[in-house]
Amino acid sequence: MADMNTDIKKLYGVGKVRAEKYAKMGVYTVGDLLDHYPRGYENRGDVRLLSDTSPEVKSSVVLTVSTQPTLARLKNRMTLVKFKAHDESGFCDIAYFNQDYLKNVFPVGSEFRFYGKVQMNRNGYAMTSPAYEPYGDGSELPPLLPVYPLTEGLTQKQIAKDMKAAMSIAAYADAEEDYLPEEIRLRHSLCVRSYALRQIHMPESFAALAKAKKRLIFDELLTFALGVSMASGKIQRHAAVPCHDTDISALESILPYSLTGAQRRVIDDIKRDMSWDCAMNRMIVGDVGCGKTVCAAAAIYIAVKNGLQAALMAPTEILATQHYGDLCELLGKLGVRCELLVGSMSAAEKKRVRAVAASGEADIIIGTQAIISDGVSFARSGLVVADEQHRFGVNQRAVLAEKNNLSHMLVMSATPIPRSLALAIYGNLDVSRIDEMPPGRQRVDTFAVDESYRQRLNGFISKQIEEGGQVYIVCPAVEEKEDEEADLLMDDIDFQGQVRTAPPLKSATGYAKELSDIFPQYKVAFLHGRMKGAEKDEIMRSFAAGDVDILVSTTVIEVGVNVPRASLMIVENAERFGLSQLHQLRGRVGRGKRKSYCVLVSESLNIEGKAKERLLTMKKCYDGFEIAEKDLVMRGPGDFLKGADDSSVRQSGGIKFRIAELCDDAELLTVAFDEAKALLAESSDLAAYPQLADRINKMFTLEQGTVN
Ligand code: ADP
Ligand code: MG
Repeated sequence: MADMNTDIKKLYGVGKVRAEKYAKMGVYTVGDLLDHYPRGYENRGDVRLLSDTSPEVKSSVVLTVSTQPTLARLKNRMTLVKFKAHDESGFCDIAYFNQDYLKNVFPVGSEFRFYGKVQMNRNGYAMTSPAYEPYGDGSELPPLLPVYPLTEGLTQKQIAKDMKAAMSIAAYADAEEDYLPEEIRLRHSLCVRSYALRQIHMPESFAALAKAKKRLIFDELLTFALGVSMASGKIQRHAAVPCHDTDISALESILPYSLTGAQRRVIDDIKRDMSWDCAMNRMIVGDVGCGKTVCAAAAIYIAVKNGLQAALMAPTEILATQHYGDLCELLGKLGVRCELLVGSMSAAEKKRVRAVAASGEADIIIGTQAIISDGVSFARSGLVVADEQHRFGVNQRAVLAEKNNLSHMLVMSATPIPRSLALAIYGNLDVSRIDEMPPGRQRVDTFAVDESYRQRLNGFISKQIEEGGQVYIVCPAVEEKEDEEADLLMDDIDFQGQVRTAPPLKSATGYAKELSDIFPQYKVAFLHGRMKGAEKDEIMRSFAAGDVDILVSTTVIEVGVNVPRASLMIVENAERFGLSQLHQLRGRVGRGKRKSYCVLVSESLNIEGKAKERLLTMKKCYDGFEIAEKDLVMRGPGDFLKGADDSSVRQSGGIKFRIAELCDDAELLTVAFDEAKALLAESSDLAAYPQLADRINKMFTLEQGTVN
């Protein structure tokens, strides 16, 4: 008997090849397939008259076949099935290529619902290869057709068909089963899971879809909350070697500046933590550029002074290299021996660094997370510093804590996360805030403009470059809209089933090309999250070196690379970004002496609403913590859960969200954490809820594939 754990290969028509494609998206079982939610829908229920359609967007029309379909042979072995169909507003030529069998599918007088772009030709309207469904045979046609995230070699049709099979198995197998305790479900007015799954894949209405979405988001947030709470429970206050000598005046005396009050407070926290025989477990939170690194340097110096070694881990190779450069220069003067360990080094070099770490000759090893957590052994490990920018990685931290027994732990994060969320998400991590910028830091003047400024903006770009500056341009989307793109994104449907309409997205690929044409004299480069790490690093490096004038990218550049000459940040479709994200992006410029600017481009400025309100907030507000609080109120916790990478797999610290990124309800996350706490109080290992435990395992440990 098939059930949720049945191998996907058991579905009729799914062979080894297709199963491999599914595996790439993390789908192995029938249950996994049901958890593969649409990224949007085709709005086929919005049936229009031909005269009421527009040629740019796909429309749904109900037409009666007026002429017998004919089959013609064209050149290049192509064939064409053609006929006319009509509604009360006009006639439409309908054409299909290379599908001869369609000749017999459309009898004169029968009605069909067609879906596609309606173009004009000299005879009237025309549609090429529209999707079609027989209409008027008494059965209701679904109003919304799912559009799934795909991976190469899989089509929407295949997924839809397999999904149907999976749904019928679900209907038998766990019709009445719902792993969410009923009190929780009722307390938050959530629908049952089987209903949610049915409606997310085949919505009967917007209202039903909204209910389904809320339930599935809750499930995901609850799983996340449970996993985080369990993991942070594991970060025990273990023993550590106390550092009795916490005098850093030698370090202070060689700094080219004096520490800010905020930095002093953080360093005092660190000194206090490290002087105990119980491990420090602290996070430094503060805006980009506020000077977290020197606090970490103080911690490292203290560790080394007390005879311990330290490891510093950065999320990317460039950042690791940057830290290495800075720390070598600073700590080197105090006799601290620094070593770098990154993937691009030769095997012999890596071996040497591992050896000096193990022998204790090196005081600090700086490298990428992957490399350091993957087997560097220290003679006297005493401190682990993680510069993780804004990934949470609670789970990795738990692993790290286990591995680095006896070590103090310090994490730096550039996400000024609101207090309420920090408590929920970080659990028992102590947090120090740096809420003050070093003196003399310039403010990045911020403007919000619409398309009508495009010409002037191009002039401004060129002025910046002529004056020796560099330009970042950030776009939300990667490629041109694919043909199979949903016209309604999951993101655009709120919990009430209302649809938000948003301006079309500027594509990064297309725009990069456009800019190369406008500015043939400048070097334009393009960077996006789906590139390989080494490729990304290379582009970033040449931008940092000044070999590239304009860097067009998706949000990947949020990760904290320092390019002092960058003086202009342009964000396209700025309405798509959360405040905190915009703030992070703005922090990429103004890092040198050059006067810097941030320009937010958005058509939403012409529409009263939250998007406009957000953009205007950015003009007024420059404090990261204040912005974070506002963001939480305006957008919900989604942005804080998101990772720095813009790949459409929603992830935070390695945890991938399928649907919760879209969460617009700040309360839901807090609720999820409260419920998680209550559940764990009742059953600390979740033995009473094996299915929930299962989901947590999947979310936190499974290596899931990427999805386009
Ligand atoms: P982040 O918090 O983003 O990691 P960094 O530690 O990289 O910021 O610091 C940003 C810049 O500010 C560095 O060039 C650093 O030398 C400088 N800086 C840090 N603290 C101070 C200070 N107290 N006064 C002046 N400059 C400072
Ligand atoms: Mg930093």
